[in-house]
Amino acid sequence: MPTLSLDNLTNGPDGSCDTAIIGAGIVALALAVRLQLEGRHVMLLDPKEPASGTSFGNAGYLSRGSIFPPASPEMMRRLPQLMLDPSGPLVIRPSYAHRMVPWGIRLMAASRPKPLSRIVEALAALCRDAVTSYRPLLAAAGAEDMIDVRGSLVVCRTQATLEQKAAAIPMLRKHGIVAERIDGAEARRMEPALATDIAGAVYFPDNARCVSPGALGARFAESVRAKGGTLRQTAVTKLHPQGEGWLLDTSTGPVAARQVVVAAGRWSDELLAPLGYTIPLISERGYHLMLPRAEVSLSRPCVMAEPFFAATPMRGGLRLAGTVEFANTDAPMNPRRSDKLYELAVPYLPGLRREGATRWMGVRPSLPDALPAIGAASGHRNLFYCFGHQHIGLTTAAISAQLLADVMLQRTPSLDPAPFNLDRFRRRQSDARAA
Ligand SMILES: Cc1cc2nc3c(=O)[nH]c(=O)nc-3n(C[C@H](O)[C@H](O)[C@H](O)COP(=O)(O)OP(=O)(O)OC[C@H]3O[C@@H](n4cnc5c(N)ncnc54)[C@H](O)[C@@H]3O)c2cc1C
Repeated sequence: MPTLSLDNLTNGPDGSCDTAIIGAGIVALALAVRLQLEGRHVMLLDPKEPASGTSFGNAGYLSRGSIFPPASPEMMRRLPQLMLDPSGPLVIRPSYAHRMVPWGIRLMAASRPKPLSRIVEALAALCRDAVTSYRPLLAAAGAEDMIDVRGSLVVCRTQATLEQKAAAIPMLRKHGIVAERIDGAEARRMEPALATDIAGAVYFPDNARCVSPGALGARFAESVRAKGGTLRQTAVTKLHPQGEGWLLDTSTGPVAARQVVVAAGRWSDELLAPLGYTIPLISERGYHLMLPRAEVSLSRPCVMAEPFFAATPMRGGLRLAGTVEFANTDAPMNPRRSDKLYELAVPYLPGLRREGATRWMGVRPSLPDALPAIGAASGHRNLFYCFGHQHIGLTTAAISAQLLADVMLQRTPSLDPAPFNLDRFRRRQSDARAA
């Protein structure tokens, strides 16, 4: 076992480091770049290539307006009906249903008016500076070309959906998010590829897109290496507290660290469970279909509202992405779900072609209250966490990194970290016992 000295640890050949970050998805990578800007020595540990999992295939949409939890009470009420259609926008695989029951109960509790308004408040605080918080990270990594701020549209085919989406505008504005209702003609002026029967759209001028989420992750990884950080291709199997620091068992030998951050997306709960943290994290899988020769072009992300999925122009083609499938993390993908995205997109984008299309599935790490877990572990010194970013991990990776860096460096954070603390689940367990 390496001897752990806690003084000025750098990344040593013996496997020691100052700050070990478990995972190398976009959340971990943004944090690594951020901590290096703060002068920290970091080591990322992941058995896979950086940003090659969920952070590779997402819709590339930086959505400041994502302040409402994706799983609404209305959706939960419609769940039995939705589940009857195996190719519908939301499915629960039967083998996963037992995991969904306790999670669903917590979700229903989080959907009551009082907790819901606190959740919306917290998501709004996180999303407000989501795009601007990327700036220093992009500059550090020479990756400014990866994010394009040209706004986004939520496109509605029916007047009823447009009314429903536009009804959220006052609430968005109250939280500092600019959103405008536009009619079909204006939507088509902005995006001529849209069908002529579009009822209208909600335009978010400050939203952005990532032109290639995988390439952004690779740039961040290169930057971490170039600034003296280490990326170790290894799986962490166990965390042991050792004095003031940590010893990590990994598939390629032990690593000693002064501080550890668990940022392993959907797998984070498995690493924290042996230390006594019970976390209701589930696999909310989603799909994409990449169209390299779509023959239809968009200039900004368009979220198609019936049912909800995104079409984002990227380097390499048009990416259709979305749908929800609650299933075991490593269950085989269902290619039909990727293909379905094409069928859903054609009415919005006539003339869309699918030659050369590629399919993909990724796992959103989702907590029942839709808030990510960002903070310091309450039961252990020098243990931190940053995971559970569900549908908005790309959007909020940089602001999460900023918040966690503030917590780690014991600075006054720019936003309130309390709603993101994991203890919210512990408290609820003890409340339940007391009730
Ligand atoms: C279809 C789809 C579309 C999406 N679209 C958007 C979008 O447009 N905008 C947006 O903001 N978000 C979007 N998301 C969500 C976003 O992609 C995720 O929230 C985000 O990628 C999560 O990043 P992460 O770094 O937490 O997890 P991941 O990218 O999953 O990374 C976790 C890493 O941890 C590693 N790991 C696991 N176990 C261990 C271990 N034991 N030791 C070491 N490493 C380990 C894994 O190998 C993995 O590389 C979308 C998701 C999906 C599925």
